[in-house]
Amino acid sequence: MANTPFISKRAAAYADIPDDKWNNWRWQLSNRINTVEEFAKVLNLTESECEALSAPGLFRVDITPYFVSLIDPNDPNDPVRKQIVPVASELKPFTAMMEDSLAEDRHSPVPGLVHRYPDRVLMLVTTQCASYCRYCTRSRIVGDPSATFSRAEFEMQIEYLKRTPQVRDVLLSGGDPLVLAPKILEEILTRLREIPHIEIVRIGSRVPVFMPMRITDELTDMLQKFHPLWLNIHVNHPNEISAELAEACDKLTRAGIPLGNQAVLLAGVNDNVHVQRELVQKLVRIRVRPYYLYQCDLVEGAGHFRTPVAKGIEIMEGLRGHTSGYAVHQYIVDAPGGGGKIPVLPNYLISMSDHKVVLRNFEGYITTYEEPTDYMPEKSAKFLGSKRPEPGQTGITGLLDGDEMFIKPEGFDETHDRHGLQHRLKDVKKWMPLGIGEEKEEK
Ligand SMILES: *Cc1c(COP(=O)(O)O)cnc(C)c1O
Repeated sequence: MANTPFISKRAAAYADIPDDKWNNWRWQLSNRINTVEEFAKVLNLTESECEALSAPGLFRVDITPYFVSLIDPNDPNDPVRKQIVPVASELKPFTAMMEDSLAEDRHSPVPGLVHRYPDRVLMLVTTQCASYCRYCTRSRIVGDPSATFSRAEFEMQIEYLKRTPQVRDVLLSGGDPLVLAPKILEEILTRLREIPHIEIVRIGSRVPVFMPMRITDELTDMLQKFHPLWLNIHVNHPNEISAELAEACDKLTRAGIPLGNQAVLLAGVNDNVHVQRELVQKLVRIRVRPYYLYQCDLVEGAGHFRTPVAKGIEIMEGLRGHTSGYAVHQYIVDAPGGGGKIPVLPNYLISMSDHKVVLRNFEGYITTYEEPTDYMPEKSAKFLGSKRPEPGQTGITGLLDGDEMFIKPEGFDETHDRHGLQHRLKDVKKWMPLGIGEEKEEK
């Protein structure tokens, strides 16, 4: 695929749409498809898809004409199709399925703001997206047409951020921030920039992928007033990397916005080393740095997309060393119950002694690294940096730093408290073997 040009597609059903409409994001938004009749004009629907599309209580369906055009209409297993066209298995519950698997609602000090990590927050600014991913981790709130941007909630979020100085990084998500009315998005960014301790703002958006025509010069002119601004897009399969997406990413990077990609590991879409390698290499070609590959969350409707964690490790094994380091994302399991993001990777450290580590490389070559025996960490103040202002949340780093000696599971002290019955060995004299704790008894 070396430097093959990125292509542009348009489904036959849209052949007569004039270019100025097709390239207008408002036209794309208002011509999204969601009914069996509309789909049938573009795709050769399967029985399972028809069943799902007619099912009551289905998570919202909407697809832009641009994105649906990337699908091969006659291939029921098309990897783009599987991401956005519902199938009957979506309606099936599975073991451990949860509504809010990341416990985001519990971590919200005010509605729509998730403060899970010490120095950064997730700010949900809308429930709307340009199209809806079938495996959406936030399907409990996303897509609801009655819940739009709430000014009252926004003001509460801003107030919380103002009084929480440890937050230096705000991640705008939703829903998709780039479907907000341009004036509202600009206001959100302006208000965040007025808070002095907020160093960086980032946006998580699939708009460049669903509707690349939204990335206009007016939009990038507006966004670049708020630097440092970062943006993560969401591409799962190389087929999503079109000429239009390449152009949108070019505009964003020219505006000085570093781009990353967050993908989700999905059965039947990208659960294959070769597909993943092509994906990350194509992303790097359009100057998008692969950031995370997520294990699919335990969320309603996503059961049929899940893979074992072993599949993710196998993919990482096939990337590291085999391709540019820039192209290697981190594989993440977002811990159910709100444990947060946990990176998982193959083992490269095989063994160690007090002066040597044994390592293996991507080819299976095994080597040793002789460690220094006279290493003394620098103790002078200028090397120490400053500790985090708030207590707690230091975890393993806190153990290493010596702030804490242990981390105990919940209820540990209660479980192990035997209510002070004295141990018989406390009565040392009585039980000590002769000649150690006491004088030999006289005969
Ligand atoms: C993913 C996430 C972040 C950002 O995490 P990074 O690892 O810094 O990208 C922040 N807050 C919440 C609640 C998240 O889920």
